Amino acid sequence: MDDKIKIGIMGGTFDPIHYGHLATAEAVRKKYGLEKVLFIPSGNPPHKTDRDITSKSHRYNMSILATVSNDFFEVSDVEIQKDRLSYTVDTLLELSEKNPNAQYYLIMGADAFCDIETWSRVEKLFELSKVVGATRPGIDMDDFKRNITKIQQKYKTQILHVHVPSLDISSTDIRDRIKYGMTIKYLLPENVEKYIYKYNLYR
Ligand code: ATP
Ligand code: MG
Repeated sequence: MDDKIKIGIMGGTFDPIHYGHLATAEAVRKKYGLEKVLFIPSGNPPHKTDRDITSKSHRYNMSILATVSNDFFEVSDVEIQKDRLSYTVDTLLELSEKNPNAQYYLIMGADAFCDIETWSRVEKLFELSKVVGATRPGIDMDDFKRNITKIQQKYKTQILHVHVPSLDISSTDIRDRIKYGMTIKYLLPENVEKYIYKYNLYR
């Protein structure tokens, strides 16, 4: 068990990727001594059918740009290569088959973690990975802790949790700020900011 390669999985829409995602992944990587963190931009996310999502290629490119400065970060195109809806559990199954010698750490912000029971095949998710819940501004700490306890008891599993310095940043807010002509500087890497303006995204 211990000789397994520890790999973090950071899934998201990344529309666009920002410092909240990067700081969370780095905090988890460091705490658990992960070999690397795979950022996996989602294809057609089952949870987000309510708005037009930026093309997979733009979201993938922005993820690449955002992660170049960290040698431990990689971007995977497993989900964006697919046409059908992508469930995390299927991605984990696919990754585990390809790399049976890996122990996956599934990283989730507190908002995503509190919704975990709506995810497809949760039991299988716990079987295939160690789930890591990370603090996120906007999610009450007590609620988060209560949820962790509840999930641990209900599924007889262990949930890891990491405190991340609070960055009250969301992709929704960044998209709104662009739409209303407000600054997005220092909320996301500069090269991603430049990419957004170059391709006229979120106007
Ligand atoms: P949106 O506003 O479009 O939902 P988002 O900022 O929530 O975007 P997602 O792509 O939905 O970003 O999130 C991917 C993952 O990153 C989720 O697990 C989410 O909880 C986590 N995450 C996003 N922003 C933060 C943050 N500021 N701090 C901690 N975790 C975060
Ligand atoms: Mg979100």
